[in-house]
Amino acid sequence: MRARVSDACAAVGRQPSLTTLVVVTKTYPASDVAALASLGVRDVGEAREQELRDKREQLPDLALRWHLVGRLQRNKARSVGRLADVVHSVDDVRLLLRLSEGAAEVGRELGCFVQVSLDGDPSRGGVTEADLLALAEQVAGTPSLRLLGVMAVAPRGADPDEAFARLRGLSARVAAEHPTATAVSAGMSGDLEAALRHGATHLRVGAAVLGSRPPTG
Ligand SMILES: *Cc1c(COP(=O)(O)O)cnc(C)c1O
Repeated sequence: MRARVSDACAAVGRQPSLTTLVVVTKTYPASDVAALASLGVRDVGEAREQELRDKREQLPDLALRWHLVGRLQRNKARSVGRLADVVHSVDDVRLLLRLSEGAAEVGRELGCFVQVSLDGDPSRGGVTEADLLALAEQVAGTPSLRLLGVMAVAPRGADPDEAFARLRGLSARVAAEHPTATAVSAGMSGDLEAALRHGATHLRVGAAVLGSRPPTG
């Protein structure tokens, strides 16, 4: 997997060290997370608050950065604020206060990506492109939250190059107003090369590292 990332980085003239590989461990047991940590993985991602909570409890001693990459429910946002180091799926201003309160309870800043929907399909999360800048502004203005940049999932069946090119344009607009918010979370097992071609700084990769998961409902 590291070879695939470094090949893809080399192809676009990018240093692999500037790319954060978040290994998405959803549905895999805590023992797999421990094994990844022993192999040098530093960043792991979960899709759900419950699984994040269970794994953090089972692995209290591992120096990992925990990322929440899946859709955020409002009633779980405070807990996610406590448990996560980085949230990739901030897509509603009504989540912010709870995330902020949770992060403040543990005395940390929570890194936030604002998720944008590139196809207008709300079922996979994300704000519309029209609402992105306003949400970024709100995150930047909320205590205990740090705006890192933008996140998107390539629309199903669409050309990921076209989608990630659009994301890069949106990232530039956010960064023009928030000069430190230059990170771009894009790219999964199936499309990480395309994401790197368009400036992704954070890859969220599950199946390509851990093998395919049984389908979830
Ligand atoms: C599961 C998931 C991933 C990882 O997907 P793979 O195809 O296994 O690499 C990335 N991002 C999000 C939001 C996910 O839910």
